[in-house]
Parts: sequence; structure tokens; C-alpha cells
Amino acid sequence: MRPRAEPLDLQLQRPFRISRGVQHYAHSLLVEITSGELTGIGEAAPDGGGYYGETRETMLAALDRLADHLPDDPLLLEDAAEGLDRALHHGNGALKSAVDMALYDLAGKRLGVPVYRLLGLNPARAPLTSFTIGIDSPDEMARGAREAGKQYPILKIKVGTPRDLDNVRAIRDATDATLRVDANAGWTPKEAVRQIAALAEYGIELVEQPVAAADLEGLRFVRERPPLPIFADESCVTVEDVPGLAGAVDGINIKLAKCGGLRNALRMIATARAHHLRVMLGWMVGRSLAITAAAHLSPLVDYADLDGGLLLAADPFIGVRVEDGKLILPDTPGLGVSRVPATT
Ligand code: MG
Repeated sequence: MRPRAEPLDLQLQRPFRISRGVQHYAHSLLVEITSGELTGIGEAAPDGGGYYGETRETMLAALDRLADHLPDDPLLLEDAAEGLDRALHHGNGALKSAVDMALYDLAGKRLGVPVYRLLGLNPARAPLTSFTIGIDSPDEMARGAREAGKQYPILKIKVGTPRDLDNVRAIRDATDATLRVDANAGWTPKEAVRQIAALAEYGIELVEQPVAAADLEGLRFVRERPPLPIFADESCVTVEDVPGLAGAVDGINIKLAKCGGLRNALRMIATARAHHLRVMLGWMVGRSLAITAAAHLSPLVDYADLDGGLLLAADPFIGVRVEDGKLILPDTPGLGVSRVPATT
């Protein structure tokens, strides 16, 4: 089976700012794999700033190398995941995840079952997803939070700026939603301890990636000074990162585009559980295609941050839905993602 790819370019509804930069567009690849009459689809959605080393150019260059490592039988998902990791040892998580989700889509279509069912999961156990508020002025962030809070009981607030307290105070005044904060490695350990102590007054549920990705001692330093649970995101890319984080954090944020797909995410979840870590499923800025693939795993996790399609001005796919924050998994075969019909 040879994967094919085409570019997917979409403008975000509004620029999306985190502590290390701003993103205006989501440059992804659509990957298709055909076997017989059936085609599986996947989305490679790398981090907008190329943080994990992937761009559309690197993904296109690597795609050809993957084809020789895929089994001919689309139901041999374990062989496929091994082949992807063998072909590209390090990195390339977004590209691998697109191929992997296309294979799951194909396998589900072949068997006539949704992916969650292929995995033996109960869709009623899908968690609530948070909705992310990017960095902006306090007024703009409060306005966004007020609006989003009508539909989402949980908001994830991007922090890691000199104005964090003003921003979070304005948001807390605007909504009763549960608030999580994500610093995207924007603080030093000492700064993090100080900021978290101040932010805790506003009823924050957890803090994601307070310090630099490689600074595991910094994470441990912050975690040893409560008051809030600490989650690793940038520090936790693949399954190999999980054991080293035990004791340094309370939980990890798994993303298909970091770890290389559903198969690798399942391994990460199992490894995290063995180390008594809580698990969040997150996203890069992607469309409903990538988000839906992750959502099929969500009955296995404690927290979800899978609102990404909602940041897009025009999402070309329909897949997972969100009702009052709850993820509603599609029940058609495979990923259950279809293209939005073209309007005339
Ligand atoms: Mg994060």
C-alpha cells in the first residue's frame, strides 16, 4: 500500500498565540491509503512553528520512505506501526500519525466498525474537552472565554507572558468555567512556582508544561511546591519519555502528532498508567480529521483538549462533535470522518 498526500492549507479564525509564537495558518497534509475499493484518510498536522522539527516539506520528503515499510494487509496495524517506527526512528510524529490514522480508518471500514469499537472502547466514556483561549489582551481573552464558556465547561488558557495574572483574573471574572493553564515552557522553575501560587487563587485545575521541555528537574522542582497538579506536554513526546517523567509530574499530554499515531498513543497510555500518571489527549492545530482520530482513543483518558477544528475558519471535514463540551464519537465505520459537501 502506497500512501498519497496532498496539501491542506487553512487560515485560522483568529491568530493563535502561545508563549513562544503566533500561528495564522495550519499547514497540514492529507494522507490517503487505498486497498481494494476502500480508502483510509489521515491528517498530518505538525506544530505550527516547526517546534518538533516537522514542516510540510520534511513530511513530503519522508513519505516515500514509509511506503516500503507498510504491510499489504491493512488489518496488520501492529506491523504497520512497527514499520513506521523502523522507517523513521526519530521525530516525524505528525507524518507517521497521518499514515497510522489512515490505516485505522481503512481497517475500520474493512471490518464495518468505528475505530473506537475496533479498540474495544466505550464511546459513552469519552471525556469533556476543554476549549483553548490563546494569548491576547485581557479584554480579548475574557471576551473569548465568555463566549466559549457558554458551550464548554472547561477552558484551557495559554499563559507564559508578563500579563498572566491580569489575563486570568479577567477570564475568571467573565466565566465560571473550570480553568486549566498551559505555559508552553514559558517560565523558569522559580517563576513558575511564583506564578502558580498566584494563579491558584483563581481556581485553576492544572498547569501544563510550566518550564523548558528538557528541564525535568525543573518540572520536579515545581511539582514539589504545590498547590496545583503539573502536566508535561513538550517534555513528553514519545513512549520513551514517559518513565523518566514519573515523579516529576502528575500527568502527561499525549498527542498523535508527537508520538506517531494511535498505536503509539495506546502504548503511551499503558506506560503512563503503569507509572501512576494521569493522561490528557491533546492536539496540534488540526482539522476535524486529526481531532477525530484522537477522539476515538479518548474513552481511555482522564482529560481531553480536542477542540482544534473549532479554531479553523473553514474546516473541510465533519467528524467528532462536541455537545456541551462532551466529545460525541461518530459511529460510522473507520474514523467516521467525511468531507464537508462543497457549497455552490
Ligand atoms: Mg500544551
